[in-house]
Amino acid sequence: MRFPAEMNQRKVHIMKTLLPREAVALVTIALAACTLALPAHAAITVVAATPDLADIAKQVGGDRVSVSTIAQANQDLHMIDPRPSDVLRIKRADLVVRIGMDLDLWMDALLNAAGNARVNRGGPGYVDCSVGIHKLEVPKEQITGASGDIHVYGNPHYWLDPLNGEVISANILAGLKRVSPTNADYFEQNRKAFVAHLRAAMRRWQERLAPYRGRKIVTYHDGWPYFAHRFSLQVLGCIEPKPGIPPSASHIASLIAQIEAEKQPVVIADAPYYPDKAAKIIAARTGARFVVIPSSVGGVKGADDYIALFDHIVDALAKGFAAK
Ligand SMILES: [Zn+2]
Repeated sequence: MRFPAEMNQRKVHIMKTLLPREAVALVTIALAACTLALPAHAAITVVAATPDLADIAKQVGGDRVSVSTIAQANQDLHMIDPRPSDVLRIKRADLVVRIGMDLDLWMDALLNAAGNARVNRGGPGYVDCSVGIHKLEVPKEQITGASGDIHVYGNPHYWLDPLNGEVISANILAGLKRVSPTNADYFEQNRKAFVAHLRAAMRRWQERLAPYRGRKIVTYHDGWPYFAHRFSLQVLGCIEPKPGIPPSASHIASLIAQIEAEKQPVVIADAPYYPDKAAKIIAARTGARFVVIPSSVGGVKGADDYIALFDHIVDALAKGFAAK
């Protein structure tokens, strides 16, 4: 497995927990191998790392693909514990679609365990959706061990800028055309329709959030710079001082002081799976509005696809900003 040298605690945790499971998986694969042959005209089997990528793959692949996802909605994407059944799915996949950067390192572990050359890095069925993304928070200085827990390739939460859905869908389109060239026109048409829907929705979201340009949000995790950038919001600070590290009393106190120094009310927002105790304390002390926003498709009821996801995020934030 190839991991960056600056491995954080989570990544070590992922490796430690996967290794014995890989062994289990290999035995399972050996036992199941004779029953795994795909029917000749089966749909193209796509395994996506996250529900967001899975939805975009469905939009582009239409009825020619069968899509599943490794991470489920309401799971912290940094903390996925892959299962032996995930290894089997990747072993059978025609296309694997991942976030890349260093968010889904668990995908590397799964790809290594599955040993499916078609979908391994460099294979026709390997899609890294971060290719072509304009990356934010890319570290400028040389990364050393002393830099601590830092995203070496920049912030990986790029799917939370809806316009990056265009780049993601282009990467998936290219992958689908590689593994199924006879369906190229069909996939092209589907992607065109997806992008048209996304652009129309974008005008609606821009309009809804326009009155709140420049307003500040506090999030639990540093997962929202792409969204904030797209909609001209500012992230005042994060409740987690570092990814995976719960806030100390002094960190909470400093956030409270920052929020109180603002002229405009601040909105505290993040995904439903993060602890909300500190957010509620800060909200109670400062009068800031606390709203839950889904960070993935399926993260709240009704956020059933990539466009509905942003409908929910935009609606919750607009209500938070509008609150007296
Ligand atoms: Zn993150």
